[in-house]
Amino acid sequence: MIEFNPPASARLTHSGSTECALGGPCDELASGHALSFMQRRLASVTSTKWHDAIVDEVSDGGQIRLTTIANNEQILLWHHSHIGHDVKAGDPVALHEIYHVLAVGSTWFNVSIEAF
Ligand SMILES: [Zn+2]
Repeated sequence: MIEFNPPASARLTHSGSTECALGGPCDELASGHALSFMQRRLASVTSTKWHDAIVDEVSDGGQIRLTTIANNEQILLWHHSHIGHDVKAGDPVALHEIYHVLAVGSTWFNVSIEAF
């Protein structure tokens, strides 16, 4: 019998993939925190609820200001960690209005919609 016993450093551990503004890794699924599988799934199957937008500004405090392309509406979002390395002013993005997902290319974020 072959025993599979990887060293501790090789074992998968459960931890949040992003740093949270609340400190440490994030396992919080509230708006603006970690993206859940169900949120991703529900946003995927409700394709008419996405709004194309252009990023106006990304702050160090996690705020993202957008303007929608169709209606020229200003939207203010918040994410628990700074996402300025993933999204910059002038970038095209999509926002899901019901499941509050911000899509930056193939990277999706759970965001809190502060003002729409
Ligand atoms: Zn968080």
